[in-house]
Amino acid sequence: MNNTFDIQLSGHRSSAEERQRLLENPGFGQVFTDHMITISWTEEDGWHDARLEPYGPLTLDPATAVFHYAQELFEGLKAYRQADGSIVTFRPYANAARFNSSCERMAMPPLPEELFVRSLELLVDTDRDWVPTHEGHSLYLRPFMIATQRGLGVNSPSSSFKFIVIASPSGAYFTGGIKPVSVWLSEEYTRAAPGGTGTAKCGGNYAAAFVAQAQAVREGCDQVVWLDANEHRWVEEMGGMNLFFVHGSGSDARIVTPALTGTLLPGITRDSLLQLAPDLGFPASEGRISTDEWRAGCASGELTEVFACGTAAVITPVGRVKGAGGEWTVGSGEPGPVTMRLREELVGIQYGERPDPYGWIHKTG
Ligand SMILES: *Cc1c(COP(=O)(O)O)cnc(C)c1O
Repeated sequence: MNNTFDIQLSGHRSSAEERQRLLENPGFGQVFTDHMITISWTEEDGWHDARLEPYGPLTLDPATAVFHYAQELFEGLKAYRQADGSIVTFRPYANAARFNSSCERMAMPPLPEELFVRSLELLVDTDRDWVPTHEGHSLYLRPFMIATQRGLGVNSPSSSFKFIVIASPSGAYFTGGIKPVSVWLSEEYTRAAPGGTGTAKCGGNYAAAFVAQAQAVREGCDQVVWLDANEHRWVEEMGGMNLFFVHGSGSDARIVTPALTGTLLPGITRDSLLQLAPDLGFPASEGRISTDEWRAGCASGELTEVFACGTAAVITPVGRVKGAGGEWTVGSGEPGPVTMRLREELVGIQYGERPDPYGWIHKTG
């Protein structure tokens, strides 16, 4: 298809006062803008019927495939208001590429990258008044795809799909400023196993994770940390975020993140930090770390900081760790200088307050 959209503007757009009120304290993923994007796919016609339409409920037959077999995947990225009022997104082509690699794993049709990015641009530009101006706030974009074939047969993937983009003004993901989180090492549950769907950003991974997150909360922790499926020893991710370990301090500090073994989600924030950190004087590498090494490193002082990273919360320090075998504090338990320096630089690039030598910023509206 060519990249033209049928445009149907909402007759019930929020008033400026209503929008202002909602933008004051939007929380995360609770408030949505006036419009959404939908594009359909069928075996006969491929991608077609691209629309910008009023935000609203979908009507689907109860026998629609996505409800039964969870053939679904999503992306998450943000649009940021710049000082001059213009709007940018961060590395949208990286999200488009990851969307398509998730599609491949989930037997879903890839969407041309240009069409993916065009959808974001059109929605952001139409609902540009919803992009927050408050410091640290942004417009979270949620592209996703669902299987829409009607019927309960399970022998083949759906023959039709819908791609949708919705947008949600958001404040801080974790409320209360940059407070370190405590984590529970999950030895009972597994997020992803070799050959599974750990590298795909699919809803099913999250459905399987809630029970472990609930257990973490019962253990008095904020977040779950996932370990490898075979030995329950090697650290993989924290909830829906990737992890970094800081070795040493001052001019000797370096950062290490678990390598992409096929069971981790390849985060775009993770990838950005691997590129950014060396330019700030922190060598960065991929490796592997066991829970024993984590504990011993904190005890000896060799591991000075640990943080998690992802689009929604950017960078979040990890202050305390608890597992079946005991618990310990990371560094002083407070946000560390390397964590905060990386955060400041990344957020600075996103809001246009720092130069972007990497070409990550994409003018969107
Ligand atoms: C989305 C996600 C991340 C972070 O990816 P970003 O592209 O940095 O937002 C990490 N882990 C999981 C499981 C995720 O779903």
